[in-house]
Amino acid sequence: MSVSRRVKPHIAGLEPYQPGKPIEELERELGIEGAVKLASNESPVGPSPKAVAAMAQILPEVHRYPDGGCFALRAKLSRRLDVSGEQLIFGSGSDEILELLAKAFLGEGDEAVFAWPSFAMYPIVVQGAGARAVSVPLDANRAHDLVAMAKSVTPQTKLVFVCNPNNPTGTSVGAEAFDGFVEALPADVILVVDEAYFEFVRRDDFPDALGWAQRRPGTLVLRTFSKIYGLAGLRVGYGVGDPELIGYLERARHPFNVSLVAQVAAAAALDDDAHVARSREVNAHGLAYLERELGQLGIETCPSDANFILAQTGPGCADALLQAGVIVRPMGGFGLPDFVRISVGLPEENERLIKVLRRLREGGGS
Ligand SMILES: *Cc1c(COP(=O)(O)O)cnc(C)c1O
Repeated sequence: MSVSRRVKPHIAGLEPYQPGKPIEELERELGIEGAVKLASNESPVGPSPKAVAAMAQILPEVHRYPDGGCFALRAKLSRRLDVSGEQLIFGSGSDEILELLAKAFLGEGDEAVFAWPSFAMYPIVVQGAGARAVSVPLDANRAHDLVAMAKSVTPQTKLVFVCNPNNPTGTSVGAEAFDGFVEALPADVILVVDEAYFEFVRRDDFPDALGWAQRRPGTLVLRTFSKIYGLAGLRVGYGVGDPELIGYLERARHPFNVSLVAQVAAAAALDDDAHVARSREVNAHGLAYLERELGQLGIETCPSDANFILAQTGPGCADALLQAGVIVRPMGGFGLPDFVRISVGLPEENERLIKVLRRLREGGGS
């Protein structure tokens, strides 16, 4: 008897998520040291020293289960965002909250609409729940085509995801287009606005999705401690929505989904405004450097509002960079075989990438 006859067909049909290659793995494979990873949009600055100190202090307590309600973190964040505690849900990364949405709202016969290329977890959670993934191509500027997305909504549509800024293109949508889209969205469609990168945004007409979460029931704004806060390894993210929607997600989650260490670190990180400001500044400088240098190499890039940049380097570039000890994310799996996604690193990491790219170009390599 083969398990292939037992597995749910919509699970068997999934393409597993492809994470960036870990630094240690590449160093092992090539027998080198000092590889650079610019592949997973991690913070090059690292975590806040305040978060590190708070974690060190709590380590002797880890024989206790965490507070399943994230009391201290919830109180702090609700003051910060000026929302009530019942409007917040915490997850093991915002990835888990995507899973909770699928678990609570999607099943066979349902549809979920999202842009493509966008975050790879959307099709995984939608198809994993047995629902139909309706992916809508980005527009000519590689930004969300909100008009086309609105037209893709049917009576079967339960969820719509808007990734703003969008991963992997870095493009964002402005308030006018976003507000028009939300106003036209049927009231019974759940709107998920994934703002994993909102702290990096440069445009000044960025939409007020939190405001929509306050006024429009069935709106959830997702944010994370994995990117600007530099806590990706801990796994903690959150959602902001109306208490009814949050209540359904709460029913679907495990009681201790956010670890004790993660809760304490996230709460401390929230208080370190200087660290956030520094991370933003390092990113802005690195992004400007990469845009300029890639441009000088004749490599086209997408305008980015995030901590990464999509670059048209030609096919095979990610592999060539790997051989030189630089890990970037190949985009073939997103239907963009000519592109790589480069996370912004520290100045010396960005310079190393540019140096290798220049050498590859001059050497006639890809
Ligand atoms: C990184 C990322 C997330 C969240 O990651 P977690 O580590 O699970 O919080 C969510 N959405 C997008 C678009 C991302 O790029």
